[in-house]
Amino acid sequence: MLCAAVGLIVLMGIAVAGQMESTEQQNQKLLSENQKLTEENERLEKDLNNWKIAKEIKEAPAVRLKEDSENWMLALVNEEYPLAKDYTPASLTKLDEKCSVDTRIYGELEQMIADARQAGLNLYVTSAYRSYDRQREVFDTTMKDWISKGYSPLDAYDETKKSVAVPGTSEHATGLAVDIISGQYTGLDDKQGDTAEQEWLMAHCQEYGFILRFPKDKSNVTGIVYEPWHYRYVGKEAAKKITEQGITLEEYLQAD
Ligand SMILES: [Zn+2]
Repeated sequence: MLCAAVGLIVLMGIAVAGQMESTEQQNQKLLSENQKLTEENERLEKDLNNWKIAKEIKEAPAVRLKEDSENWMLALVNEEYPLAKDYTPASLTKLDEKCSVDTRIYGELEQMIADARQAGLNLYVTSAYRSYDRQREVFDTTMKDWISKGYSPLDAYDETKKSVAVPGTSEHATGLAVDIISGQYTGLDDKQGDTAEQEWLMAHCQEYGFILRFPKDKSNVTGIVYEPWHYRYVGKEAAKKITEQGITLEEYLQAD
């Protein structure tokens, strides 16, 4: 009888110890699960926030550009997200007689051109800020050229769209885009991309906050053919990520 009682106490003791151990383990488990949930929650909150920012950037480019908030340089302007017709940059700075840019990018653009000159290269800005009306003129002139070559108005429109942005969808209206060409070769075609000037720009532009906006093999994403002369200011942080990952502004805003 006594023996059985002792045995029972011993058994109970083992059971309690076992229970204590499992409570400890359970606590650990709960803590780590809690930690995981907190991390997951933080990640989701961050995702949601990034998504909200990306949505705002896409849906109201003119508002973004007007503000001096941190995202003005990421305003997306393309066929899907046109810029308001009456948008004009708050402040423009002249590069020369015919070209001006948004004052906020002037310093870095000038520095980039000066540094290229130091490396023995001659860069020329052929086009910068272009108003809605000016873009319409360029579009109409190009379209008339196609019509005079025998194209129907509809076909001329489609052909023009391949090389000239439809008014309202051009980044040139933001004042953040510049067409830069080589002093050695001034043609606006694929060969421009093979010049020493473009090679230097493609390798270094992100250091000044610029990206090659319409790269080769990305026209399915951007809707624009390869334009080795068109550079867009997006700020150093985004420019670095976009260049390193070999993506476009559209893809950057989608993923971030
Ligand atoms: Zn351009």
